[in-house]
Parts: sequence; C-alpha cells; structure tokens
Amino acid sequence: MARRLPRRLRARRRLHDRPGRRLRGVAERRRGRLPLPHGRHGDRRAARRVRHPARPGRGGAAARGPHRAAAGRAAAGRGARAAAGRRTGRRRGARGAARLRQRRPRRQRRAGLGLGRHRSGRGRRRRDGRPLPALALAPALTRAGRCPARGPILCGASRGAAHRVPPDRAGTRSVMTSTTRAAVLYRANEPHRIRELQMEDPHPGEVVVRVGAAGICASDHHVMQGMTALPLPSVLGHEGAGTVESVGPGVTAVQPGDRCILSFVSNCGHCSSCRRGRANLCDTNAATGARQYDGTTRLTDPEGVGIPQMGKLGVFAERLVCPIQACYPVPDDVSMEAAALIGCCVTTGVGAVVNTPELQPGSTVAVFGCGGVGLNVVQGAALMNAARIIAVDIHDHKLDFARGFGATDTVNARDVDSVKAVRELTGGGADFSYDVFGSPETTRNAVDSLGKGGTAVVVGLAGVEDSAPINLVDLVRAQKRILGCYYGFVSPHETFRTMVDLYRSGRLDIDGLVQRRYRLEQIDAAYAVLARGENGRGVIVFD
Ligand SMILES: [Zn+2]
Ligand SMILES: [Zn+2]
Repeated sequence: MARRLPRRLRARRRLHDRPGRRLRGVAERRRGRLPLPHGRHGDRRAARRVRHPARPGRGGAAARGPHRAAAGRAAAGRGARAAAGRRTGRRRGARGAARLRQRRPRRQRRAGLGLGRHRSGRGRRRRDGRPLPALALAPALTRAGRCPARGPILCGASRGAAHRVPPDRAGTRSVMTSTTRAAVLYRANEPHRIRELQMEDPHPGEVVVRVGAAGICASDHHVMQGMTALPLPSVLGHEGAGTVESVGPGVTAVQPGDRCILSFVSNCGHCSSCRRGRANLCDTNAATGARQYDGTTRLTDPEGVGIPQMGKLGVFAERLVCPIQACYPVPDDVSMEAAALIGCCVTTGVGAVVNTPELQPGSTVAVFGCGGVGLNVVQGAALMNAARIIAVDIHDHKLDFARGFGATDTVNARDVDSVKAVRELTGGGADFSYDVFGSPETTRNAVDSLGKGGTAVVVGLAGVEDSAPINLVDLVRAQKRILGCYYGFVSPHETFRTMVDLYRSGRLDIDGLVQRRYRLEQIDAAYAVLARGENGRGVIVFD
C-alpha cells in the first residue's frame, strides 16, 4: 500500500511525474533557485502599483471607474494573501500556479495584442512541433503587458491601438543603421558642422525620406541665436520635402518612391488635442519634441552622441527618419521646392488667413512683417478677396516685393507711425491684422491698428520670455479679439491639401517666393542672407 506523502511534497511529486508540462522552471523559482519573473507573484504586482500609482487623467484604478477600482483593490488583496502564503512557508503546487495565472487581471492576460504581439510568445512550439502549454508562455505574456519604456507618452498610449513596443528593446531585431550627411548645430551662435551621422533604420510607423529641398526659415534662425529652446546638438530644418526611400514595419500610407511634403508637427491621432480636431497642436508631438514618439533619437554622431531632429524631421540632412504622420504625398507636378515651402511658410501664412474665423471678402487686412511667411499672409488675403491689404515692414525692397503678391498699400515702419498709417488707410482701423514678425512691439501695433470689432492674429513666434503691452480698456471697449495661430490654425495635412490644390490651379504663387538656392555646405551663408532681410525665400536643394 502506497504511503500518502505529506502535502508539501505532493506538489513536487506531481511536477516530477509530468516533466512534459515544462513546470520545472516554475518549481525551481518557487524553491528560490531561479529569479522570479515579473508578475508571477501578487506581492510584486502590489509593489509595482506602489511604484507607479494611478495618476489623474492617465488611467489607473482611480481613473477607471468604481468597478475597475474595486477590482484593483481585490487584486491588491490577492497579492497580499499570496505574499502572506509564502511568509508562512505554504507552497503552491502546479494547480495553484495555474490558478494564480488565471487570477491575473484580464488586461495582463490579454497582453501581447497589438504591436507588442511578437513578445507574447504565441506561436512558440516544442521541438516536435506541438504548441507549448499556456503556463510555459505565461512569463512572456506578463512581460509583454508592461510598457517597456515606462515613459509618460508610451504609458499613456498603452491602452490604445497606437502603443508601440520599441523593437530594439523588445529584442526582436538587431538595430540596423545606414549613414546620412547632415548639418549639425552643436552650440548656439556657432557655425554648423557638416557630418556623416549613423542613422537607425525606421522603427514601426516610421519612414526614411531622401530630402529634396529644405527651406531657410526664421524659426531655425531663432534656435541658432539661442532664442528658442531646443536640445543641442540637433539637426535643424523643419521646412522640407522629399522622396520616401524605405518604410518601417506597419507603414501602409506611403511606399518607396512617394514624393511628400513633410509636416513639422507629426500628430499622434489619439491625444486630447488630436481628438478635438487640433492636430496642429498635438500633445504627444509637443511632449516628445525633437525626439521620435518613443522618446529616442535615430541619429548618432561619430562620438556616439544621439542627435535629435527639429520637428522630428531635421531636413538639413540628405536623408532622415521621421514618423509616417509627417508625410503628405503630392503629385509629380508639385516641385520639391514648392512642396518644401508648403511644409512651413505657405501653410503658416496662407493657412492663417484662409482659416481665420469670420474673415469675409471685402475685409481690410494689415500685415506686419513681409518675410517668407508675411508674403504668404499677403497672398492669402488676396485669395480671400480682401479689399485692402496693407503690408508693413522696415525694408522698402520687401514692401515692393510684397506688392507682387497682392499688397494694395505699403507702410515703411521706419519712416512713419505704422499704427496711424493703417488706421488712416482703412478709415478707422483694419478688420484683421496679422503680426507675422512676432515681438511685443509688432503685436501691440497689430492690436492698436484694428478698428472696432477687429481681430489681431499673432502668427510669428516671439522670444520665450516676451509679453506684449496691450491697452486693455481699448480691447474691451472696441471689442477686439487677439488670436494665436500655429501652423495655419488646423490640421497641417488639411491645409497642405488646400495649398496643393491652389498651387496646381495657378492661384498660389510659390515658385515666385524662391529667390535663392544653396547647397547644404552653404547653410551658414544662407542664414546670414536671411538675417540681412533679403526678399523671398532661400532653399537648400539636394541631388
Ligand atoms: Zn518655418
Ligand atoms: Zn496627438
């Protein structure tokens, strides 16, 4: 007659009797010979909850409603009981381990769905071809349920379809690289260095673009002067267009050979701003800045330093990696230079006017600043059939140039009081004014030059510390409005579509804006010309 084993040995006997269940690892871990995998014991889960408590608005037990919150408390209770079980020396057998797995929250058991699926272990088989039992896969499933980056963006996105597991961290592929030649700005107020950088292959949802043209825009110049906060070293350049060279996993919207406008705001599609239709103000894009969505960089200099890309682009480079959301395909009859300018100055300028609420044909419009964006505000006002378009600048040659894009009147602010001049020309004040330069003085002038009920639109970016002295009594009594406008008020891709149509039908002059062409090596000379206040736009062209 077989002797009945004590209870603590019965579980061990079951494990040895059934080696095919691959339970040895579990048993060994329970004996303390192997490290415990994450998520296999309730006390570890409870500890993680303490390390990463629920934050307001970011999910977690507190934000998931009373039922889920109760489930969270129950899970914490189970964790405490499991920990207590170990402290008293009670061991769980195979059935206990299976029960523990079943008790894991459904969210963890479902882990491995979406782009993290490759980590789940599904599809792994024994050598003889039979699938592994579920228990043997449990550690992989559990690990896949955690956000590997633990960053606020990925953690915030992990509940949605857009959650991405960085593949290099997931260990599913080795990191492949190529090279790109780029102008790198290491320090403000110093020249660029043309360097050969290592460039990682595109991650899921990213593409490689061979740059065709890059615009010389004042926003880059602000970074070079140290007026705008951007991590340095970086590759600057946010106004560009190019041809898709290769695509990363999961990209279907474009394919190699597609010619694209590049948006310097890659909108994620699932943040609060994107959901409200303000893709140009995407929170995820703002939070990750010059790095890619996963918070990492794709470029590395010869010293091994990661190099961010302005606007996730950095078009002052022969090739770049960017999110697919940056790409807007255009037909072959849109030149690379025109496509590049649509990427910033045309959309920012014309878009600001055509998307201004309540702007009616016959309105009077004053434009302060006639650089690349200002000229586009002028031609946007012309497209909207403004009755008078008053261009204001301090250079006569720029004012003359603005007449070619539709300005009906010009005011040199060096010679006369620009506010008084605009009010006289419009018979009491303009209906709409645009501060394209972006400074306390020009914003104040734009507001002061308005008539009753007028709207001032601030398009240009001032210094980060600047604020404008506005006459508050006049603001109230004249019922004036002041609007900020970033990247054309709405989704960049929507404005791109309008600009491409207007350009192809001959109603938008983009080719006439391009006055100078440079090679990449001439980038510092190009910005010296911009600083002097020459007409129109300069463009870096690539082969
Ligand atoms: Zn720009
Ligand atoms: Zn977003």
